[in-house]
Amino acid sequence: MANNPTHEPSIKTARLIWRDGQPVSEQFGDVYFSRENGLEETRYVFLRHNHLPERFRQLSSNDAFVIAETGFGTGLNFLTAWQAFCQEAPANARLHFVSVERYPLGTQDLERALALWPELAPYARQLVNNYPQPVTGCHRLVLNEGRVRLTLYFGDAVEGFDAMDFHADAWFLDGFAPACNPGLWQDQLIRQVREHSHQGTTLATFTAAGRVRRALAETGFRMERVDGFGPKRDMIRGVLEHGADRAATEPGHVLVVGAGIAGASIARNLAVRGYQVTVADQGEGPGAGASGNPQGALYAKLGVQLNDQTRLALAALLHAQRFYPAQTPDAWHQTGLLMMGFSEQERERQQKFLAAQHYPESVLRPLVKEEASTLTGVPCPQGGLWFPGSGWLEPALLCSQLLDHPRIQTEFGFRATRLLPCNNRWCLSGNGRQDLVADTVILAAGHLTRQLMPVNGEFRMKAIRGQITRLPATHLTRTPRAVITGARYLNPPNDGQIVTGATFDLRDTDPEVRPDSHRENLSGLDSMLPGLLDTPIDLTGDITGRVAFRCTTHDYQPVAGPLVNGEGHTLGGAWLLTGLGSKGLMWAPLMAEYLADLITGEPLALPHALARRVSPERCLATTQKQPRTPA
Ligand code: SAM
Repeated sequence: MANNPTHEPSIKTARLIWRDGQPVSEQFGDVYFSRENGLEETRYVFLRHNHLPERFRQLSSNDAFVIAETGFGTGLNFLTAWQAFCQEAPANARLHFVSVERYPLGTQDLERALALWPELAPYARQLVNNYPQPVTGCHRLVLNEGRVRLTLYFGDAVEGFDAMDFHADAWFLDGFAPACNPGLWQDQLIRQVREHSHQGTTLATFTAAGRVRRALAETGFRMERVDGFGPKRDMIRGVLEHGADRAATEPGHVLVVGAGIAGASIARNLAVRGYQVTVADQGEGPGAGASGNPQGALYAKLGVQLNDQTRLALAALLHAQRFYPAQTPDAWHQTGLLMMGFSEQERERQQKFLAAQHYPESVLRPLVKEEASTLTGVPCPQGGLWFPGSGWLEPALLCSQLLDHPRIQTEFGFRATRLLPCNNRWCLSGNGRQDLVADTVILAAGHLTRQLMPVNGEFRMKAIRGQITRLPATHLTRTPRAVITGARYLNPPNDGQIVTGATFDLRDTDPEVRPDSHRENLSGLDSMLPGLLDTPIDLTGDITGRVAFRCTTHDYQPVAGPLVNGEGHTLGGAWLLTGLGSKGLMWAPLMAEYLADLITGEPLALPHALARRVSPERCLATTQKQPRTPA
C-alpha cells in the first residue's frame, strides 16, 4: 500500500481544531461557519438571499429543486436547506443538493459539529447514518424516504464540477474566504457555476470580494451587494438573466418490463419520484428469473488498477451498502464478506491490488487466515480481503418489497412478445392479454430484453446459465457466519439451508437443474473450504437447486440509458436497464438511481466518465470497441 503516492481511492479527511467548541479547519486556517451563529448565518446568506423559502413554496408537486454548493464541510448548509424545504415546499416536491468537498469531515467530527444544532438533529442523524465512506468520487445519498437527494463529490471542486452533470436552481458559494482559499475562487470555478446554471438561477455568497463579483457579472449574473451577516459589512448575491430555460419533466406513466432486481429497483425509484409505474413480467411473481435465488451475496470484484471500471464497481458497491440497510432492511443481512485468496493466481491478484490502491479499512482490508477463520466462523485455509459492509440478501423478498408501493401496479404472467411505438407512446403486446401502453418504457428483462428491443442490428449481450445448489446446513461441519466468496460463494444459513454456486455455463441453454452442476458447485466449495462439507453427499437426497440465466454484455459492464437503434439514435421514451450479469444486487440500486435521474432530468448519480461505461450505445456491434481493461 505504501507505494501508492496518491493514496486513492482513500481521501484525506479534514483536520479540525476545536476552538470554543466550534470547528476550525487546520488545512485552511478558517472557520466553518460564523462564530456568532452559524445556523442563522446560513439562513441569512444562503437561504434568504437565494429567496429559497418563497421559491420552495411556489414549487409544484413532483418538482425537484436543485441547490449546488462549493464546500460541503459540516453539512450545516445542506441540513438548513433541507429543514426549510420540509417546512415550506409542497409534500410531493423534492430537493436535490449537489456539493463538493476536498477534505471530508470524519464521521466523529461531523457528529460533533452537527451536535451544535439540536433543532437539526433529525436531519443530522440521517446524514450521519448515510454519510459516505472517505473515498474519492461521486456519492449519492437518498434521504427522507427519497424526498431529498444529496450528490456529494469527494475531491477538488473544479474537478468535481467538471465531472458532474447537473443544472442548479440556486448556488451556495461557500468554501472559505478567498483570502484563506485563493485556489478555489478561480475563473474556472466561476465559469463552471455559469455552465451548471439556467436562466433564473440565483447565487449567494458571504464574500464581497470585488474580483469574485466582477467575474460572476462577466459570465452573465446580475450581481448585487447587500448587507452582510453580523459583523460582516456586506455580501453579494446574483441572478442569471439569460440562458437556457430550466428543463421540466412531467411525471407520466412508466411501463417496466421485468420484475427482477433491475425492474423492481427502477420501478420503486420512479414511483418515489412521483411516477405511476406498471411492471410486467412473465413470471407468476417478483424475481422469477435470475433474481429469484433464495440468497445472493453483495460483493464487487474490484480491479487491480483504479480505472473507471474499478471506480464504477466501487461506487455501486458503496451505494448498495447504504441502500439496502436503509430501504429494505428485512431482506438484508450485513454479516461481512470474505473474498478468499483461494488460488495462487487470486492471491497474487489481491497482493497487486493492495499495492496499487489504498482503501479505508471501513471499506476493505486484508485478512490472514486465522482472522478469516475467526470472522467467518469456519476454518479458512487462506486469508483474503474482508469487506465489513457487505453481506447477503434475500433477492425474491427484496424484489417484492421494492414493488410494494402505492404507485406501482404489477402484471404478472404477462409474456411480452412485441414492443412498438404508437401515437407518441409505447405499446407492449403480450400473450393474449390486453396491450400495455405508457409514455415511457424501460426494458429490464435480463436476457429476454434483446428480443423485445424494436431495433435492428446486433446488441452485444449474452445469457449465461447459472445453477445454484441448496442443501441443509447439517451437511456442513461448521456453520459460516459471514459470506465467503472465491471458487464458489457460501452464505450463512437461512431457514436451515445454505446456498452455494453458481455455475457459469457459457453457451448452455438448459433450464433444468442437473446433477453435474451440483457436483461442480460442491467440488468448488470443497476445494475452497476443505473439510467443511461432510462427504459424500447424496445428490438425490435433500439437495435442491435452481437454474437462472444471467444477462451480460461483451464487456461485463451494466447497461443503463436510452434505447438506441443501429445507427446510434435514441428512441424517445424507451430505456434499458440490463446486463447486470451475476452482480445484479450490487449494480441495481445505483443503476436505478442513474437511470431515474436521466428520465427525470435531475443531477446525475454518475460522473461523465462512469456514465460512458454503462451507455447502451457501446453495446452496438457497429460501435468502435472500447479498449477492455482487465479486472
Ligand atoms: N458549507 C459548509 C457547511 O455547511 O458546513 C461550510 C463550508 S467551509 C466554510 C468550506 C469547505 O470548502 C471546507 O470543508 C473545505 O474543505 C472545502 N473546500 C475548500 N477548498 C475546496 C476545493 N478546492 N474543493 C473542494 N472543497 C473545498
